[in-house]
Amino acid sequence: MSAADTEPAHDPTEPILPDAKMHVAMPNAPVAARIHGSRLCMKGKSASFIRHVEIDVSGTPLEGSFRAGQSFGVVADGTDAAGKPHKVRLYSLASPSWGEDGHGRVIATTPKRVIAEREPQKAGDDPSDHALFLGVCSNWLCDRKAGDAVQVSGPNGKRFLLPEDPSKHDYLFLATGTGIAPFRGFLMELLVGPPAGTPAAAHWRRCESRIELVMGSPYSTDLLYDDFLTDLAKRHANFRYHPVISREMRLGGDGTQRKGEYVHHFIDRQLEQMGGPLDLLHSPRTLVYMCGLAGMQVGVFQMLARRGIDGFTKVADELSGKPPAEWTTDEIKRRVRPTHRCMLEVY
Ligand code: NAP
Repeated sequence: MSAADTEPAHDPTEPILPDAKMHVAMPNAPVAARIHGSRLCMKGKSASFIRHVEIDVSGTPLEGSFRAGQSFGVVADGTDAAGKPHKVRLYSLASPSWGEDGHGRVIATTPKRVIAEREPQKAGDDPSDHALFLGVCSNWLCDRKAGDAVQVSGPNGKRFLLPEDPSKHDYLFLATGTGIAPFRGFLMELLVGPPAGTPAAAHWRRCESRIELVMGSPYSTDLLYDDFLTDLAKRHANFRYHPVISREMRLGGDGTQRKGEYVHHFIDRQLEQMGGPLDLLHSPRTLVYMCGLAGMQVGVFQMLARRGIDGFTKVADELSGKPPAEWTTDEIKRRVRPTHRCMLEVY
């Protein structure tokens, strides 16, 4: 009997993910790279500052080591309060697997400046301390200029990847805020392709699958990579881009002004129409990828259960018999798990 006779048949609805390199540069031994470029990437004048930062890793073991969807580490210069070097911070790769340059030498990410007030975190913290808090790494990274040195580790992550053969599936990409980063890389990989003349261009094929991207932002001005995404949707009939704005009023179907909404509210509303853009959730070909705020996972999982859409989540027996609308956030976090058709990168 051959091995193929004994192995269970692969479920065709589940993706076959490619192998991805991991930890080529460990966090305690990051490699010396250089900033290649940095630009703001919001749609308009916004209260937030979010940048597209490109890092040149050429000549280091990280060159050519990444796959779209993975993350990498950055170690900011300086020391922490205990005088020790800062710990590594992880950032999602915003580039396709061939990098920004087509050769895997320049990688990019989408850091947001942290501008907050201190809040008590643990017992004993001074409740009246509300001094400005700027964090350690994202502002440092946003401050860097082309040519500046930066310590990089990685790659990290082996599950938030496109399948080995992307044509076997359709895609629902769900992002909130800077969670858009890996989807920029995925879309370049699926629809744009490598720069002409690069090695990757020789065997690249445009993906004909259906791709729907739902992107949640507080204000329209905070949308990220909006020109790129709008233009991509114009050029590719199989790709649709759905910005969802939470803090602006929107026009309802009956002409009245409605409150802003979250990603899961938008999907829920779309599912009310038969043949709407998100009916792909009923197809066994579809894979769901979610990146951004952890709260999005809770809302989306609850909405899928309420609509009786399965294949993307596995609900623990403890919740059987309890209507999804009554599930608590804690129950959803602990008792509803993603299946192989649902990839999560949420914090
Ligand atoms: P943001 O701008 O604060 O929020 C994006 C949108 O999500 C806003 O419209 C926000 O609405 C909405 N939102 C808030 N709570 C939500 C919920 N429960 N369900 C659905 N939508 C919700 O986002 P950001 O500051 O860029 O933060 C992005 C987050 O993604 C960070 O936590 C970051 O760590 C994470 N992230 C993770 C990865 C990764 O895991 N690899 C990569 C990139 C980013 P309101 O603010 O109006 O309530």
